[in-house]
Amino acid sequence: MFKSFLIKYGEIGLKGKNRHVFEDALVKQIYFGLKDVEGEFKVSKEQGRIYVDALSEYDYDETLEALTRVFGIVGICPMVQIEDEGFDNLAAFIADYMGKVYGDRELTFKVHARRARKNYPLESMEINARLGEKILDAYPNMKVDVHDPDVLLCVEIRNKISIYSEEIPGCGGMPIGTNGKAMLLLSGGIDSPVAGWMIAKRGVQIEATYFHAPPYTSERAKQKVVDLATQMSKYTGPIKLNIVNFTDPQLYIYENAPHEQLTIIMRRYMMKIAEELATKSGSMALVTGESLGQVASQTIQSLYTTNEVCTMPVFRPLIGFDKQDIITIAEKIGTYETSILPFEDCCTIFVAKHPVTKPILHIIQRSEKKIEEKMDELCKIAIDTVETVICQ
Ligand code: ATP
Ligand code: MG
Repeated sequence: MFKSFLIKYGEIGLKGKNRHVFEDALVKQIYFGLKDVEGEFKVSKEQGRIYVDALSEYDYDETLEALTRVFGIVGICPMVQIEDEGFDNLAAFIADYMGKVYGDRELTFKVHARRARKNYPLESMEINARLGEKILDAYPNMKVDVHDPDVLLCVEIRNKISIYSEEIPGCGGMPIGTNGKAMLLLSGGIDSPVAGWMIAKRGVQIEATYFHAPPYTSERAKQKVVDLATQMSKYTGPIKLNIVNFTDPQLYIYENAPHEQLTIIMRRYMMKIAEELATKSGSMALVTGESLGQVASQTIQSLYTTNEVCTMPVFRPLIGFDKQDIITIAEKIGTYETSILPFEDCCTIFVAKHPVTKPILHIIQRSEKKIEEKMDELCKIAIDTVETVICQ
């Protein structure tokens, strides 16, 4: 029975002259979200409302599922729209609607009419009362409760009349594209896809970088990262994934730096390269899946030391999360199953038995001084030969 959806969006960012930017971005993201859903849709904005109309047969459940993945939507109301053909016609339609949607369910309801078109002959209060009566007459199983109704029946009178009585929660946040672009360091693990998702939820377009070390890391490990980015793209829109061949820089560090410092030095170079790629692509922040204390490279001293190579802000949205909290989100967004596939990432091959957990910046810098010249050359080659894949 529903052929349309009323899209409710958050209030933040809506005020003033930014409003249309926000709405246009949301419309664009809704189209993107619906691109793989069977059916043809029109998304339109009208007087502070966004509507999705199905123009053909369509899959209701798939449509709802796709809409719940669009950042910026706080609620989705399946809706019917009718022409204004007089109050009696509306009342008859409403009675029919309640019967079709709720049948003989015992429930309480309240009618909430909004007369956005002021020349409608009845006032809101009167519409509420009359429609309420009509429903009570037709269904002995329905009662009025104006304070805490099971069903809030909304009737919005504009050029057409919109009727809806259910609101499915959306995932909130801000539409992608309203808050710039950031570069996610995406590994094959559980954490980084979640970190990217959280930043994207704030309206940020995500680009990603993966450090690949063939033949130490396999094609399957790389494919896993592509798969993760593709899964993320259901929320974030297309993700440009930069695949950096990190084998030579990594081997050079392995052979020329103290073993207990390998991880930290390697991470510093990863951040440097990611920052350079970020600058090239117009990103204004880096995003990582680090969480304080999770592993040796995520102690406060390690984060301090890694962070030192970057001049851009580094967003670490998981910094205060326990692993289980991260897993819960990974499951919700559909990346968990892929993340736990057992393909090595490049950090697990070149790990020292006893990595420093409290690196001291000037000691790390001194080690790096010795390899700097060659490393700059190798990193430049890595950047120049980066492979890009659009994941969507
Ligand atoms: P994840 O689950 O995201 O892999 P992790 O717990 O395994 O994280 P680390 O291996 O210390 O932690 O990595 C910390 C962060 O560094 C990751 O969340 C990711 O942002 C980045 N990172 C690690 N390895 C790579 C890689 N091979 N390519 C790109 N980014 C990486
Ligand atoms: Mg990892």
